[in-house]
Amino acid sequence: SKVPSITLNNGVEMPQLGFGVWQVPDDEAAKAVATAIESGYRSIDTAAIYENETGTGKAVASSGVAREELFITTKLWNSEQGYDSTLRAFDASLDKLGLDYVDLYLIHWPVPAKDAYVDTYKAFEKILADGRARSIGVSNFQPEHLDRLLGETSVVPAVNQIELHPQLAQAESRALHAKHSIATEAWSPLGQGRGLLEVPTVVAIARKHDRTPAQVVLRWHLQIGNVVIPKSVTPSRIKENIDVFGFELDADDLAALAALDEGKRLGPNPAEFNLGA
Ligand code: NAD
Repeated sequence: SKVPSITLNNGVEMPQLGFGVWQVPDDEAAKAVATAIESGYRSIDTAAIYENETGTGKAVASSGVAREELFITTKLWNSEQGYDSTLRAFDASLDKLGLDYVDLYLIHWPVPAKDAYVDTYKAFEKILADGRARSIGVSNFQPEHLDRLLGETSVVPAVNQIELHPQLAQAESRALHAKHSIATEAWSPLGQGRGLLEVPTVVAIARKHDRTPAQVVLRWHLQIGNVVIPKSVTPSRIKENIDVFGFELDADDLAALAALDEGKRLGPNPAEFNLGA
């Protein structure tokens, strides 16, 4: 069944479930994205630093799906932060993707040591005004970074893409996003397939619904309102991860999954992550 969309704070529709391509080499990305689009995905999440914008763009071009039916996200890498360098990096991303606009452009990390995300975002506002991104947003922004951005720029980010899964439920960020109508997009929604999918609570709920642990975790995200972008290069899993619209978790399931939150980060703490500064 079809993936529902959420309406971003600027009126743009974004599929609530998309396909992530981190750590997928460029040539494999072309294949994986093609499989994803064939399987019904319409939203693809890449980034300049993933070095697979070219492969992603190739798959988009040969998909046979109209551009306006797709939702393409890419991200500005840390080393390119700053007003002019952002405009140049955006041109390079569009060029690699072979597109004349993206649906969502994100600042990949705040990089506090560089102290450039406000100027960077002003370049994003220009890209938005020029119609070359339909939406702009941020990634890995913690409440302090988001509060500063909201205070010093004009366009409220449409999205904040943050690490989020049942073991890192991010209540504080989600509440702040809700207050400002910023969509919460979950990265590593499956906990990178490491551990989370073997947690007894998750396995038991999967058995109860005759579904897989990955499907249960994705359902949890969808039912609490997150946008999700699970990654896989395995065709059967790519299909499994989008086949999550024919069942529903009940209140007991949601409560049991909520109890798994232990603030367990798989990635770096954004306040301290200054790679490329
Ligand atoms: P994920 O949580 O999507 O897990 C992917 C891994 O889980 C796969 O490599 C595979 O090992 C396993 N898996 C996938 N489907 C499965 C299934 N059905 N059954 C069992 N195992 C399965 O991890 P991710 O790739 O880190 O995150 C998803 C996407 O989020 C990335 O591809 C990327 O687009 C984005 N992301 C963004 C940032 C950021 O800083 N903004 C950081 C990390 C990831």
